Amino acid sequence: MKREGNLEAPTRHPLDWKNPEFYDQAKLDVELERVFDICHGCRRCVSLCGSFPSLFDLVDATEDGEVHGIDKKDYAAVVDQCYLCDLCYMTKCPYVPPHEWNLDFPHLMLRAKAVKHENKGTSFRDNLLSSTDKLGSFAGIPIVTQAVNAINKIPAVRTVMESTLGVDKNAWIPEYAPKKFKQLATKSSAWPVKNGTKTPGKVVIYATCFINYNEPGIGQDLIKLLDHNEIPYELVNKEACCGMPKLELGDLNEVEKLKDINIPQLSKFAKEGYAILTPIPSCTLMFKQELPLMFPDEVDVQLVKEAMWDPFEYLIARKKDGLLKEDFKEELGHVSYHVPCHSRVQNVGKKTAETLEMIPGTTVNVVERCSGHSGTWGVKKEFHAMAMKIGKPVFKNMANNEPDYISSDCQLAGHHIEQGMAEAGLKQAKMMHPISLVVKAYGLAE
Ligand code: SF4
Ligand code: SF4
Repeated sequence: MKREGNLEAPTRHPLDWKNPEFYDQAKLDVELERVFDICHGCRRCVSLCGSFPSLFDLVDATEDGEVHGIDKKDYAAVVDQCYLCDLCYMTKCPYVPPHEWNLDFPHLMLRAKAVKHENKGTSFRDNLLSSTDKLGSFAGIPIVTQAVNAINKIPAVRTVMESTLGVDKNAWIPEYAPKKFKQLATKSSAWPVKNGTKTPGKVVIYATCFINYNEPGIGQDLIKLLDHNEIPYELVNKEACCGMPKLELGDLNEVEKLKDINIPQLSKFAKEGYAILTPIPSCTLMFKQELPLMFPDEVDVQLVKEAMWDPFEYLIARKKDGLLKEDFKEELGHVSYHVPCHSRVQNVGKKTAETLEMIPGTTVNVVERCSGHSGTWGVKKEFHAMAMKIGKPVFKNMANNEPDYISSDCQLAGHHIEQGMAEAGLKQAKMMHPISLVVKAYGLAE
């Protein structure tokens, strides 16, 4: 008898992406039909994203209301709406392994994206948007930075970008910083190492493309936070993109190339006992989950996984070690804090909220729901309206209690929420990354 749900903790199988069968369209269609049939009987995830409503609409439009009646070509409508947030797997699905039904909806969507990429390649727009470090290196050239930022603000240019590139003219897109994080930041600090029982006493910062090219101030604030707590740090010398934007396209060979640049550098630090901190949750998740599942036999990938920390996971563990300063000088008032999906699925608890709640005179309204931004997905013309629709309940909840600040660990989601609140006519509040809020509370903001 098939029982409902699991009693055991969920596990995740490695991604068998080097097996030729992974790319066999007929085999993929069989698996899609099997899983879609289970989802049709369950329908728990209907409110999570656009994938499930698309699937159920397709089922409901068939003659007998069953999955086998769906034209296989139409499966793409379900796959394209998935932005790999992982929420269905991590928070809803009772049939994930070790359940015998062995259902991993996000990784099945990833396989379908990989097969599509293998057969049809990637569009110019998708390639451009997902090449975050190449784009950043080019747009980060001083004269180019000014031009790109200025041009991106001209409505007529955005209209042309929408019709030629498919970047929605209304979507928030990041500006490029005049100086990269790596140019601004001091490369290391020399505090004595104080290991705790739970935390390594030295840190290496994997800055991420967004911090390096777009908002280096968050990286500098992370350094201030470490300095204030007398934690020595280093920077990764020549980091590449974590690979998440390429993963979202199913471009797994490109993910491997980026892995081959990052892992030798990061594993060296892991072997020397550093905690690796990444200030963008999707990048952290890439090293904690996706790369280890793609390369389960690579010891160095697993070492990096073990050494990788979300910054607030690290700070709270540091507090438990009695090694975090709580000499806050500034109250923050009401903070509406959004937990991004890629933080939730790391399963480390609400460590950012816990940190903000330590600050006197600060109340935290925690909003734990998908904002809809989802990396590059939400800026694409065909998905932007859906991204705003998915985010609506978040925009509303973030406005509760008239916050002084709105904040998300994912700065892209933060900007998306800011935009959604403005478009919904909700009261605006200053948007700041949680790392910058803690720096402000310490009295270290300039
Ligand atoms: S991973 Fe996220 S976007 Fe994809 S189907 Fe699941 S809930 Fe929807
Ligand atoms: S992914 Fe799992 S919980 Fe979600 S609809 Fe499918 S079977 Fe149900």
